[in-house]
Amino acid sequence: MNLAKPNIEPNPGAREIILEGIGGSPGICIGKAYLVDKEGVDIVERYYLGKNELAKEKKRFKTAVKKAKDELQAIIENMPEDFQDQASILETHVVLLKDKMLYNRAIDTIERDQVNAEWALKMVVGRLKAMFRGMDDTYLKERAEDVLHVSDRIMRNLVGAGNVDIRHINKRVILVANDLSPADASQIQLERIMGFVTDRGGKASHTSIIARTLEIPAVLGVTHGTKLIQNDDIIIVDGTQGRVILSPTEETLVAYQERQVRFVQYRAVVTRDSALPAITRDGVQLRVMGNIELPEEVVSVLDNGGEGIGLYRTEFDYVRRRQHPTEDELFEKYQDVVEVMGTRPVTIRTLDINGDKAIGYESQPDQANPALSLRAIRYCLKRPDIFRTQLRAILRAAVYGNVRILFPMISGCKEIREAKMSLDNAAESLDKDGIPYNRDIDVGIMIEVPSAVILADQLAEESDFFSIGTNDLIQYSLAIDRTDQEVAQYFNPLHPAIIRMVKQVADVAGEKQIPIFMCGEMAAEPVHLPILLGIGMDELSMNPQSIPEVKRMIRSLKVAGSKDFLAEILKQSTVDGVSRLLEDTYAGIFSESLFWNDQP
Ligand code: PEP
Ligand code: MG
Repeated sequence: MNLAKPNIEPNPGAREIILEGIGGSPGICIGKAYLVDKEGVDIVERYYLGKNELAKEKKRFKTAVKKAKDELQAIIENMPEDFQDQASILETHVVLLKDKMLYNRAIDTIERDQVNAEWALKMVVGRLKAMFRGMDDTYLKERAEDVLHVSDRIMRNLVGAGNVDIRHINKRVILVANDLSPADASQIQLERIMGFVTDRGGKASHTSIIARTLEIPAVLGVTHGTKLIQNDDIIIVDGTQGRVILSPTEETLVAYQERQVRFVQYRAVVTRDSALPAITRDGVQLRVMGNIELPEEVVSVLDNGGEGIGLYRTEFDYVRRRQHPTEDELFEKYQDVVEVMGTRPVTIRTLDINGDKAIGYESQPDQANPALSLRAIRYCLKRPDIFRTQLRAILRAAVYGNVRILFPMISGCKEIREAKMSLDNAAESLDKDGIPYNRDIDVGIMIEVPSAVILADQLAEESDFFSIGTNDLIQYSLAIDRTDQEVAQYFNPLHPAIIRMVKQVADVAGEKQIPIFMCGEMAAEPVHLPILLGIGMDELSMNPQSIPEVKRMIRSLKVAGSKDFLAEILKQSTVDGVSRLLEDTYAGIFSESLFWNDQP
């Protein structure tokens, strides 16, 4: 496909605006904005109406215009003081809504051609666009854009807000959306989507995690993003700093283009050594693995130097479909991953749906708190048919390599016993069917619910390994919705309670002699490594993009002394205290990294 290169000339008339958000995935991209919520508006059908239906149709058009006007006025009213330039553009749009050439002509077209309002609007806008474009005056020419924005808003009201559908985008753009679900994000085609910006969402949301796996910059929680950014606006997305720059000046563009080059160069340097093992300066080796959402991502894990798959989030094989996959479909996917990884471990986590990963074809009752509802292992134990299908597929794939199974969201011993019984039943049923399988695999649990931390000694008796999921552990123990930008600033793995919990679980694992892994995003931040070394993790797993930098940081650190450092960390009572101690002690080592250094 021939994809047009985005035009990234600054717009001389526009004023640069910086929008702050949450860095969901590092890196910088510069290009044209594409508002995904507006998708679907381009495809308009024509239908003819009887004379007696015309009055109703004209009323429908007027209602859509009125709604557009109310929406614009609400936006203007809620705009901060310093967005006056944007406000005046929107005020022009309010006037344009009732412009004779648009409003009256659309109504005349419904009447004269006896067509539906959408078609009439499309016809009128098409003619207006052609007229504006033919003008010599640049100012007037640019008004064509305003007409488009205005008609787009009316059209959306006529057709009803379209669903997010990003599969049909055929140009290179940066997505701007009110929200993207993990299912939406998993449809992103890398050759078209450079990055994305959303009004909602937090750093630990699954949408952010997908962006990091796809290695595209993303900024979430940009409160007025979709109101201020228009289709085709030039924007800079700085996923490292969590910032979006709308209508950048020439100077800003040049500065960010340079930073973009530095980021790519830095990643290239870090990635060059990524195949080397992660051995500390005093000779202790940690296994660094990759988290994947889809089988195709194994390549990215290997390219980035991952030594296995520490977390395969299998639920994404369920979300992009109309119904649950069959056992054979799942088996083929798992077999592919296992075979590509050869002798390296592949940790297949059983279905962790619901919470922020609902499956469209599964009707769910309205839940006040989806994250506390029928999620993960609870769902699987309630749906033994679905669970069995997956367990059989995993056991069959285990014939072909080094598979481990991981149960999510375990909160007590009963669940793990039931899950293991389901696994045995699945093995028995394969026996009966005469299908080859391998039951001789390690069975571990995610430690991501506070009760599992408290019961770690009992759970260790039933588990071959623990994998700490800090994303949910933080969500559930600090009571912070991981997808909610309002509380995103409190979501921090350096909270003293989280550090203590991780240490407590690692200590129990040590006493019970089972390996301790971490697959939550805490493991992906190089700055956390001095603490994790002191705690003593056996394996860290993360989005593939972070593997090279984490390995590099491990190579710069020593385990000797990290226990004493941890003892000091454990005395801290606040996130700030922990961060300061980390900075003061390791500034020299951190300063070699881009994540520490590259402030704009
Ligand atoms: C976690 O909760 O830390 C984890 C790794 O699982 P997920 O992000 O898929 O919930
Ligand atoms: Mg989790």
